[in-house]
Amino acid sequence: MTTVAAALAAARAKLPASEARLLLGQVMRQAPAWLIAHDDELLDEDALLAFAALVARRAGGEPVAYLLGYREFFGRRFAVSPAVLIPRPETELLVELAKARVGAGALCVPGNPLARREAESRVCRDCGLVTPSILDLGTGSGCIAITLALELPLSRVTAVDSSGAALQVAASNALDLGASLRLLQGDWLSGLDGECFDLIVSNPPYVAAADAHLAQGDLRHEPRQALVGGADGLDAIRNIVAAASSHLALGGSLMIEHGHDQADAVRVLMGDAGFSEIKAHADLAGILRVTVGRLPSTGEAPAVSY
Ligand code: GLN
Repeated sequence: MTTVAAALAAARAKLPASEARLLLGQVMRQAPAWLIAHDDELLDEDALLAFAALVARRAGGEPVAYLLGYREFFGRRFAVSPAVLIPRPETELLVELAKARVGAGALCVPGNPLARREAESRVCRDCGLVTPSILDLGTGSGCIAITLALELPLSRVTAVDSSGAALQVAASNALDLGASLRLLQGDWLSGLDGECFDLIVSNPPYVAAADAHLAQGDLRHEPRQALVGGADGLDAIRNIVAAASSHLALGGSLMIEHGHDQADAVRVLMGDAGFSEIKAHADLAGILRVTVGRLPSTGEAPAVSY
């Protein structure tokens, strides 16, 4: 019989200790901290074989998140599979910015003269409050949309993805986490004719097709369509920025996550598309990671606070 300590020690030849503990914890259905406190516990043959198989797959390059089947994001556990991008810590910045913007109110201007947009003003028939409507493009695991639906319970969240397999992962995460949102299959904004939102957020594919990182680490195993944004990485962002203004309420905001060297290009794209108050925000690593723009309001009606 092998002890937890011996199994972990053997795996150390191939993996960092923290990863070995996560994988053994998965096999034993215990938290990594439990393993530390119970390192003299014995493993049966099945557990040992299952652990060895996971260690071999991890040593072969498969992402820890796919082997575990989950990744933490904004303090919650999201199921992931190779059908979806693994949630990244830097994407929490996008969530923080969206929360702050909605929390600050004044997202849209109901009563503006554009009839279609007016029809979309969201005054609750019961309470009279305007509920912010949020759209997440390329939702993948749903980590952004579901987090916003849970953090901003008054909001109405729609999430779009072109991949049916990804939408299944997002739907199951929404169910597990108790979030209510609308999931739609579609190509960016193309299926949303006539719909209008206060806030559009996206972590689109933004890696350039020839980027060497695609052949390294976790990226080798993640869906290419969630990573690659054409030759310069900006294809999806160009598409989203061009279409967003006709799907935003006046005064509404667009927030896009992008690559470390794309902030200037995104600023130009947003400026050309008529956005104002454009600002790039740095992630915890100090990299300009999310650019935000606001669609100017006409100034004819006072902005409403939520
Ligand atoms: N931030 C990811 C990476 O470079 C890319 C995610 C994306 O394309 N949206 O690892």
